Amino acid sequence: MEFKKVFESKHERPFIISGPCSAETEEQVLKTAHELAKQNIDLFRAGIWKPRTSPGSFEGVGVEGLSWLKRVKKETGLKVTTEVAKREHVFEAVKAGIDVLWLGARTTVNPFAVQEIADAIKGVDIPVLIKNPINPDYKLWVGAIKRIYNAGITKIGVIHRGFSYYGDTNYRNVPRWQIPIDLMREFPDLTFICDNSHICGRRDTLEEVAQKAMDLNFDGLMTEVHPDPDNAWSDAAQQITPDTFKDLVNNLVYRNPSSSDRTFNATLGHLRQEIDEIDNELMNLLGKRMKIAEQIGQYKKDNNISILQPARWGSILEAAVEKGAKHDLSEAFISSFLKAIHQESINHQEQIMKG
Ligand code: PEP
Ligand code: MN
Repeated sequence: MEFKKVFESKHERPFIISGPCSAETEEQVLKTAHELAKQNIDLFRAGIWKPRTSPGSFEGVGVEGLSWLKRVKKETGLKVTTEVAKREHVFEAVKAGIDVLWLGARTTVNPFAVQEIADAIKGVDIPVLIKNPINPDYKLWVGAIKRIYNAGITKIGVIHRGFSYYGDTNYRNVPRWQIPIDLMREFPDLTFICDNSHICGRRDTLEEVAQKAMDLNFDGLMTEVHPDPDNAWSDAAQQITPDTFKDLVNNLVYRNPSSSDRTFNATLGHLRQEIDEIDNELMNLLGKRMKIAEQIGQYKKDNNISILQPARWGSILEAAVEKGAKHDLSEAFISSFLKAIHQESINHQEQIMKG
C-alpha cells in the first residue's frame, strides 16, 4: 500500500484536529470553531452520530449538524471532519462537503461496518482517518486500513486513541504505544494522529500524553475542546476550553524526527552501536538459556516430571524483580520480560515432551 499524507505540510508544528466531542447546538459548534480558528488549527472535529456505550445517552444531533459544520467552513475557512459509521453517514457527509471522514474505534473493530463504509466511499476522493479498534488487535487495525485503501482512498491517517482495559488504570483507554509504533514501522507513510482525549479520559494528563506522542514522532493531535466542558453532553470529563487547549499546544516541545548535524549523528551512531552490541549479547544469552531449558526438559521427560514447577518459578521471578530494581528496572517490566522468557522455555520443553 502506498499512502499520501492527509495534510499538506505548511508549518513546523504538528497537525491539530480539535473541536467538541459532539455537536450539541449550532451556537456551541460555531463558538468553538471561531475560537479554534484563531489558533490556526488544521481541522475542526465534531461528532454528529455518536456511538455511545449505553442507550439513553446523547446519541448525536444527526444530519442537522451537517449544516452547522457547513457554516463553520463558510465563516471560519476551517476544514471539517466528522465520524461516519454507516453507509448513510458517508453519503450525507460527502453531500454536505465534509472535508475528511473518520472511523471510530467501535467501527474499526467490525469488518462488516468498515466494508460497508469502504463500499460507500468508492469513487470519492476524500481523506479518511481510522481510529484503532477498541481491543489491541493490530491486524484488525491494518485490515480496516486495507479495506479503505482498496476502495481507492490513498490519503489515509490513523488515530491512536488507546485500547479498552478492564481493571485499574490511570487511562480511560490504555495507550499501548508499541502498537502504533509497530504500525509506523510497517507503514511509515500513513499520517499518525494521537487522540489524547480518549486515551486520558480526564483533563490533567492530556498534555503529558500529547507530549509523549510528539516524542514518538506522531504527525498530529486530535483533542476534544468545548466552550463549557463541565456541561458537555458527552465526554465532559476529558474536554477542555479553547484557552486551555491553546496553553497545551504552546507548552508542547516539538522535536525533530532527525538531524543533519554531523557531531550529533556521529554520537548517536556510536551509542546505537553499543545498543546493537548489547542486543546481540542478549540474543546469545537467551539462546544459551533456552538450550539449557531444553536439557532440563529432556531430563524431566526421562524422569517423568511435569514441566511447570510453580515454587521454582515463583522464586526466580521474585529474585529477578529484586535484582532489576537495583538497575532502575520496573517490576512490571521485569515480570513481563521474564514471563515471556519462561513461556518460551515451556514451549520448547513441551516440544521435547511430545518427542
Ligand atoms: C470520539 O472521537 O468522540 C469517539 C467516539 O471516539 P472513539 O471512537 O475513539 O471512542
Ligand atoms: Mn468523545
